[in-house]
This record gives sequence, structure tokens and C-alpha cells, in this order.
Amino acid sequence: MIKILIADDQELIRDSLRIVLSGNPDFSVNTAANGIEVVRAVRRDKPDVILMDIRMPEMDGVQCTQIIKENYPEIKIIILTTFDDDEYIFSALKHGASGYLLKGISADGLIEAIQAVSARFAASACASASNFPAFFSAST
Ligand SMILES: [Mg+2]
Repeated sequence: MIKILIADDQELIRDSLRIVLSGNPDFSVNTAANGIEVVRAVRRDKPDVILMDIRMPEMDGVQCTQIIKENYPEIKIIILTTFDDDEYIFSALKHGASGYLLKGISADGLIEAIQAVSARFAASACASASNFPAFFSAST
């Protein structure tokens, strides 16, 4: 089971992503509407992967990425953004985000990205290189 937290201030985006990802039996999905809610949700639920919007009120995705990665370096963060905001994306990656995706990505592409960052986490957590290719062959 991969615990996913969707962080986006736009309700329609949150709900759409939740519907798409909840269809996968390996995913459990929660949502947050801004960075403050992300921090609360992380303390409560310890997600494996956060899909992080950049532009959110209260606390934006860059600042939130920094706080989460400082306190929970094992949580994987994928930046999910409408814009190719080079400066913001660069900052988020510098703070430890695993990568970024544009919101125009397909559902399959998003699911593969989540599985890929989780597999990397699982492989390093159990320090077994032999698990690594299996995850990727299973997801392709
Ligand atoms: Mg936004």
C-alpha cells in the first residue's frame, strides 16, 4: 500500500486526482488544501508520497517541501504544477523534491511516477538492490 497525500488549493484538481488515484487498489489517498494542512496531515498520517502544488495560500509548495524534507526526509515529494515555473521548481528540487510533473500529464504517467519514487524508497529502505528492478518491471 502506498499512502499518497494530494496537496492543491483547487478543489476540482484535488478531487479529480483523488478519483483517479483511488481507482488503484495499491493506493490510499488523502488531500490537503495548503501547506499548513500538509504539515498537519503528515504528522497524522505519515504519507509515503506527496503530490505537491507550488502555488497555494497559507504556505506554498516550496516552503512546505523544505519543512517536510527537513523533518521527514523519507517522504517522497513530487511537484505537480500547472506552469513550468523554473525558479519555483528549482527551489523545490533543491529542498529535496524527487521531481516535478506538469498537470497536463496522463493518469497513467502520474501513477507510474508515484510507483517509481515509492520503489526507490522501498529499495533503499530495505537496502536490497535485488528489489529494485522488480518494482520497475512490475510497473511497466
Ligand atoms: Mg495552486
